[in-house]
Parts: sequence; structure tokens; C-alpha cells
Amino acid sequence: MDDCIFCRIVEGKLPAKKVYEDELTVAFWDAHPASPTHILIVPRKHIPTLNDVADGDPILSHMAGVAKTIARKQGVADFGYRFFINVNRGGGQVVFHLHAHLVSGNDLGSVFLKMAVVAAVLWRKLVGAFKRPG
Ligand code: AMP
Ligand code: ZN
Repeated sequence: MDDCIFCRIVEGKLPAKKVYEDELTVAFWDAHPASPTHILIVPRKHIPTLNDVADGDPILSHMAGVAKTIARKQGVADFGYRFFINVNRGGGQVVFHLHAHLVSGNDLGSVFLKMAVVAAVLWRKLVGAFKRPG
């Protein structure tokens, strides 16, 4: 697939910070990491989405095993990490070549979101406390 960026990375036609390769998969750093560790595990074969994985295809369990190996190598196995696949546009998939995300470390996005919610609740309470009765 010439127009698929992950096929091009697998074929070595597009640069990527690779961390792991075997006969079935290639893993490399996400170009826009959402966390200190954000690695993509990609099958060499072009499969557009999780929905297109044939029943009985061992690729998914293989990808999970690769995630386990990479997490250990990156030193995040004991700390913990997320391993997930976005499926189709509604599921947040942007690149239509099957891939799993391995994400670990500070999730600053959700920290800021929680801080914003707490600030909004406090602000409402403060405004309520100073409201004149009636
Ligand atoms: P998804 O939303 O699950 O399809 O995730 C696609 C991911 O691929 C995003 O996190 C992008 O930052 C990442 N990405 C897109 N282009 C590249 C690239 N050339 N090299 C590495 N990661 C990429
Ligand atoms: Zn592809």
C-alpha cells in the first residue's frame, strides 16, 4: 500500500524511531507522544482495522506479547502502562493500518482536565457563597 504511512515505515521508506522488529511486527515511537512513553506496535501486513483481522489470526496475541517485551525493555512494566487499539473514526482511529498503542507515564492531559473540573466546582461554590439572598 503506497499511500499507507505505516506500510511505508514497515518497508523502511519513511523514517521512524524503531524500538523493536520481528517477522510479524515493527514497533516505533509515536510521532506525537501523548505521554513520556508512547510506542506503536504495527503488523507488517496491511490490515486496515481490528475489524479486518481474520478469526484465528495470531497477530493480536503476538502484538500483546510484543507490548510486554517492549514495556520491560522501556522499564515501565512494573510501573504500568496502557495497551489499546482505536477502531474506526468513531473509536479515534486516524491511521488505517492496524496498530496498538503502548502508553505509560504522566498523563498530563487528564491531570489538566481534572484540575479544570476542580477549579470550576470551587468557582461555583465561591460565587454561590457571595450571592445576595433573594
Ligand atoms: P490512531 O489514532 O490510533 O490511528 O493513532 C495514530 C497514531 O499514529 C497517532 O498517535 C499519531 O501521532 C501517530 N503517527 C502518525 N503518523 C506517524 C508517523 N509518521 N510516525 C509515527 N507515528 C505517527
Ligand atoms: Zn499499511
